[in-house]
Amino acid sequence: MRDVRAEGERSAAEGTALVCATCGRRPEAGEEATARLTWSRDTSGAATTWTCDRCSREHLRSIEGKLDPTWW
Ligand SMILES: [Zn+2]
Repeated sequence: MRDVRAEGERSAAEGTALVCATCGRRPEAGEEATARLTWSRDTSGAATTWTCDRCSREHLRSIEGKLDPTWW
């Protein structure tokens, strides 16, 4: 347990705040490491934006809708 906490503190120290750019959601205290794997990161220039797993799925669905008009 102590190791997990140290891990979280270390990743927090990396300076990238995990906030979903779409819905403003933040991962739970213990889920940050998981979120880094499951959320999509978008790096443009110096800014890093995150999109949570839920929004990525929504986003993907709308992209698929656009790419495949027969879907409608
Ligand atoms: Zn989101």
